[in-house]
Amino acid sequence: NMKVLVIGGVAGGATFASQLRMLDDQAEIIVFEKDGTMSFANCGMPYYLGGFVEEKEQLIAATPESFQKDKSIEVRIRHEVISINRSKKTLTINDHIQNEMYEETYDKLVYSPGAVPIVPDIEHLDRGNCYSLRSFKDMLKLDEHISGRSYQSACLVGGGFIGLEMAENMKERGLDVHLVQRSGHVLNLLEPAFSEILEKELLQKGIDLHLNATVKRINEDKSLLLSDGSEIEADFLLLAVGIKPNKHLAETAGLKIGETGGVCVNEYMQTNDEDIYAIGDVIESIDYITSQPKRVPLAWVAHREAYIAARHMTGDSLPFKGILGTAICKVFDQTAAVVGHSASSLTEMKIPFETAELTARQHAGYYPGAAKLSLVIHFSHDDGKILGAQAVGEGADKRIDVISTAITGNLTVLDLQTLEIAYAPPYSAPKDPVNMLGYKAVKKVKK
Ligand code: FAD
Repeated sequence: NMKVLVIGGVAGGATFASQLRMLDDQAEIIVFEKDGTMSFANCGMPYYLGGFVEEKEQLIAATPESFQKDKSIEVRIRHEVISINRSKKTLTINDHIQNEMYEETYDKLVYSPGAVPIVPDIEHLDRGNCYSLRSFKDMLKLDEHISGRSYQSACLVGGGFIGLEMAENMKERGLDVHLVQRSGHVLNLLEPAFSEILEKELLQKGIDLHLNATVKRINEDKSLLLSDGSEIEADFLLLAVGIKPNKHLAETAGLKIGETGGVCVNEYMQTNDEDIYAIGDVIESIDYITSQPKRVPLAWVAHREAYIAARHMTGDSLPFKGILGTAICKVFDQTAAVVGHSASSLTEMKIPFETAELTARQHAGYYPGAAKLSLVIHFSHDDGKILGAQAVGEGADKRIDVISTAITGNLTVLDLQTLEIAYAPPYSAPKDPVNMLGYKAVKKVKK
């Protein structure tokens, strides 16, 4: 029987192990997880901290016991892999429970160690109470300190997905919140006008927003000096300025690293060593639209890659087609969603494009609660190929998912008018905003 070792027991690793078991009931599967918790919902952590999720156990999808019992998969928690020995086909493992090192052989190896938070360059960082949010342990520590040390105020460093979600959740928890963002807009993968909608929402909900600013220094009295010269007070800092692939073991083992800094894999998730697969936040994949190298550290991607690797390992090849980067974020009562490329990324890549945009009511105006929805779509003039779309407002999720499906099904922007979208007044309009985009795009595509 094939013996498969897995490094990392959360999104990519645990999913892979389950998928493999479904496809092969004979394989010996052992998962190594350096922390004490496997299979937890990383994405749910901000909502636990905000109190939307009441029990931390609700975030845990499986335990070593349930994996053993239900799937005959052995999960060794608090077991850290410290080297991949390719010539011997073994791993060296540090068992933090017994405090001993040992080796384990493999026929196939799956590498899914995730990413590590980037620590921004702040003078005297050690003076402050600094946190990041990546592991279950990180979440528990922050939770405990907010209550135990009676924190009243937070400074969130970084206005990306995690910074924005935490802004809402820390406010919900009753804290005063500063959000410091280096560039001129939050969630800067959005069109600037769309970011502005989120910024307005943040201000309305009482977040102190500092755009075009970084935290420069933590002063002796623990106040924070920002790069724009202002000084703010906060009981703690949450560092959420981005992540980098946790590729150390791969690098040391001589696995190839790509230009974006992730581990290189082929369309079946194999590294340059055909017995070693890599998936999740640690890899470099390719862009679905441009076929260029791209890293998208998101959960869908990790899950899909886990499936592709399991299929390939059991002799049934299904190529990964690349990543659209479909993503969504809730910011209080606003929702922002994206798929594919923005105007600025297309411009940067020198890809010519046309744009159609629309601000509509998410559903029939006469039905109560018709909130605004802003949509934009970019496409090629020559053939109507959809290159990217963004939406902000109520119903953004549905429209972006429809457009993502359209791209995956090779529909063009001209096909959007033909999509028959479910309608009753509380949900949409007889012509859905997605249909409207299609009608608007017609005149901008070459006949
Ligand atoms: P992880 O899930 O992080 O798993 C890697 C595991 O490997 C870790 O548990 C780590 O301890 C372990 N490990 C590392 N090195 C070793 C070693 N040497 N030996 C043994 N074990 C090791 N994505 C979305 O799509 N939507 C969201 O809303 C969303 N929200 C998020 C919110 C937060 C706060 C965070 C942190 C992430 C969020 N993500 C979201 C991203 C998503 O969680 C990741 O893309 C996904 O978890 C990646 O899976 P992975 O297997 O690569 O890494």
